[in-house]
Amino acid sequence: MNYKLLFSHRKLWTLGRRRSTSRLHEGIRVSGQALFSSCSPKVCVVGSGPGGFYTAQHLIKARPDVELDIYERLPVPFGLVRFGVAPDHPEVKNVINTFTQTAKHSRCNFYGNVNVGRDVTINELKEAYHAVVLSYGAEGNRTMGVPGEDLAGVYAAKDFVGWYNGLPNCRELNPDLSCETAVILGQGNVALDVARILLAPISMLKSTDITQPALEALAQSQVRRVLIVGRRGPLQIACTIKEIREMVNLPGTKPEMLPADFEGISEVLKDVPRPRKRLTELMLKTALETPGEKELERRKSASRSWGFRFFRSPVEVLAEPRTNKTSAIRLAVNRLEGSGADAQAVLTGEVEDVTCGLVISSIGYRSLLIDPGLPFDSRKAIIPNSMGRIQHTPGVYCSGWVKTGPTGVIATTMNNSFDTARSMMEDMDSGALDVSAVKSGSQSITALLRGRGVKPVTFADWEKIDSVETKKGEAEGKPREKLLSVEEMLQVAQT
Ligand code: FAD
Ligand code: NAP
Repeated sequence: MNYKLLFSHRKLWTLGRRRSTSRLHEGIRVSGQALFSSCSPKVCVVGSGPGGFYTAQHLIKARPDVELDIYERLPVPFGLVRFGVAPDHPEVKNVINTFTQTAKHSRCNFYGNVNVGRDVTINELKEAYHAVVLSYGAEGNRTMGVPGEDLAGVYAAKDFVGWYNGLPNCRELNPDLSCETAVILGQGNVALDVARILLAPISMLKSTDITQPALEALAQSQVRRVLIVGRRGPLQIACTIKEIREMVNLPGTKPEMLPADFEGISEVLKDVPRPRKRLTELMLKTALETPGEKELERRKSASRSWGFRFFRSPVEVLAEPRTNKTSAIRLAVNRLEGSGADAQAVLTGEVEDVTCGLVISSIGYRSLLIDPGLPFDSRKAIIPNSMGRIQHTPGVYCSGWVKTGPTGVIATTMNNSFDTARSMMEDMDSGALDVSAVKSGSQSITALLRGRGVKPVTFADWEKIDSVETKKGEAEGKPREKLLSVEEMLQVAQT
């Protein structure tokens, strides 16, 4: 009997909306071999952040035959949406609802707790799937490369953010918040997230999904002053207006700017593109204008302060000789060469020391190489690619931050991930990506993992974790109380 005639492609897909096509395929077997496997391109995505989920979403929507598996290192999905986005920005996390729809689609499967590169190699994935998409983000960070960077009291923003957001490997960070002044290096949105979390009143944070240990540490924090230091000027600041406005309006704080940093800025403002113009006007107003009565009162009663410091690069973190803990940071004074976004910071030879007990380096994340068989541009820290097609590696694609480098909001990541999905579909249509051979997909990979003692976490397992976290949070008046260790997560997932 010709089963292919009985179950046309499209009909299979329609049925599959209720019952997975892969399960359906498995149900119709002759001598143990699945029929129709050849008509379903099998794709796997590595990483379940926005890059992975938006690639998966686009492929599933645009190709009714694609079967897709997502492999994720952690037992829990969503990448930086869970472990990066600030706890006081819950609206940003609504994308999780769309990702959940994708994960629950009949042609999508989630395998958490699978560390690609360690538990399974890229070559093994290439064998099992017609195409592999690497969307594993940027889990490292740029380093300042200055003496004293390893002193007690110096942290990478990536780890500090991971700590307050419950990233398992940052659980033990216990940052020392016993000093009065903190210096954050870098002026991007991550720097502003960190500054806000350091200075926000506890009453603002306690109803968020910030972890309980972080909340308790911040409640005891002695940090009263945060300086956010940039190597270039106000016209090159990397953060966005919403985040500056949140600092300006942060209850219990006042701005502490240096008017000299803004000399000559008003004069060039007319030639600046509109979003940057508005952002700069807000900084100028905050730094230079005499506030109205109400704002004056607010500032008078503030017990904490924050400020931007411009034209400064880190030279050395200085230690208090007795304790060997951070006591100050030495900054080089810069001048700008050129103008606009491309202006370069050039050293003047002058330096200054700023007393501080906490230094947080927020100068960017960095992608890592997870498998030696992959090409990697270590200078740019990305996988070299053309529109998501990895160079000299047919059948392997990339999306998200590992494709572009560690910049861009979720919407930017969405667009670059859709582009990768489109590249792959073009290749399927043109024949550049051969999808005619029968591929085993997750069947062989899960067997490999089982043999290696790795137990993947399914999306239904994640929903158990989600439910436990939400219940724990309810008791505290929070949206969730995150489980903080992989062991705890696996225990819940596997009960
Ligand atoms: P990620 O989100 O990092 O996802 C990568 C995934 O891959 C992770 O789940 C990781 O566990 C997994 N992975 C890593 N290695 C492996 C491996 N070997 N095997 C399997 N899986 C692996 N954008 C906004 O629009 N609004 C915000 O408020 C916002 N806040 C942010 C706050 C911070 C601190 C940061 C750093 C970024 C923020 N962004 C925000 C930007 C946004 O988070 C990124 O654009 C987006 O997360 C990048 O997606 P990605 O999938 O490339 O990486
Ligand atoms: P970023 O926006 O690229 O900012 C990095 C900062 O570090 C810049 O000020 C940069 O200055 C500085 N820097 C880089 N190298 C340096 C060096 N060697 N010495 C001194 N300073 C250096 O990166 P990010 O803050 O990590 O954010 C990453 C992305 O996530 C961004 O696109 C951001 O918008 C997004 N994000 C969004 C939100 C949000 O929407 N709320 C929140 C967090 C993050 P130069 O400009 O001089 O290079």
